[in-house]
Amino acid sequence: MITKELIKDVTITLLRRAETTLPCDVKEALVRACEREEHEIARVQLRAMLENVRLAEELQRPLCQDTGLPLFFVKLGTGISNLRDIERGIREGVKEATAIIPLRPNVVDALTRKGGDANTGDKIPSIEYTIADLDGVEILAVPKGGGSENVSVFTMLAPEPEEETTKEIERFVLEAVLKASGKPCPPTIIGVGVGGSADMAMKLAKVALIRPVGVRNKEARIARIEEELLTAVNNTGIGPMGLGGKTTALDLHIETASTHITSLPVAVIFQCWAARRAAATIYSDGRVEYQ
Ligand code: SF4
Repeated sequence: MITKELIKDVTITLLRRAETTLPCDVKEALVRACEREEHEIARVQLRAMLENVRLAEELQRPLCQDTGLPLFFVKLGTGISNLRDIERGIREGVKEATAIIPLRPNVVDALTRKGGDANTGDKIPSIEYTIADLDGVEILAVPKGGGSENVSVFTMLAPEPEEETTKEIERFVLEAVLKASGKPCPPTIIGVGVGGSADMAMKLAKVALIRPVGVRNKEARIARIEEELLTAVNNTGIGPMGLGGKTTALDLHIETASTHITSLPVAVIFQCWAARRAAATIYSDGRVEYQ
């Protein structure tokens, strides 16, 4: 049985895991980057990040003082009926996790800038629901750092034939990377959303961030653009923390959707080196499996 209490406990565990233990694909990408860097300051930065990762895991302390905005992606199995319990369980889990991990109270009112102390607020935690063919619920916790979120960009490009469109998208992404420079705490993972409506493109960019490092888009032509853009981004020389080097991004992912005949929305969202995420599946009989 999937109860509110169970969802709360799983949320606390997911936040603890995400905040203290970097996913293996990100950790391995940092190690590979450190091995191939020739720039001395870049190597020092990457070594410091890896030492930070080791200590956070060993001491079970957050990877960064900015413990992020609590974002969740929830896949609902078709048999799920107690949606309110899922939402309340996640909210209560965020409050309790803030006190016991502990997490920095990052959530404030957008205008007054006043906030509580529990990382909850108006529509926060943010929860994105999708329907999936599974026996239960899958919860993915992605606490998102403010420094990387603050350099997100969006544009509406003019629709052109495919070759020109691709060039325009690449130009927009590279401009965003150059403008962001060291602000998103590189090496980053870059999420690019192309198509849909304005809000959909931003959502696609965010979904692109949660794809593991090294996994390419299933469509060969999009995968090719991802690779070309990643090379171009790493040739900018921005490097770890913006101090120079070959490693500006660990990966770049593009997600697409069909769009209106007159539109070409494009969004770019950055994830910092502390690319935190943790997921669990809660089966309808109450079993929990952490990924
Ligand atoms: S952007 Fe990431 S690494 Fe930088 S301060 Fe925020 S959470 Fe920490």
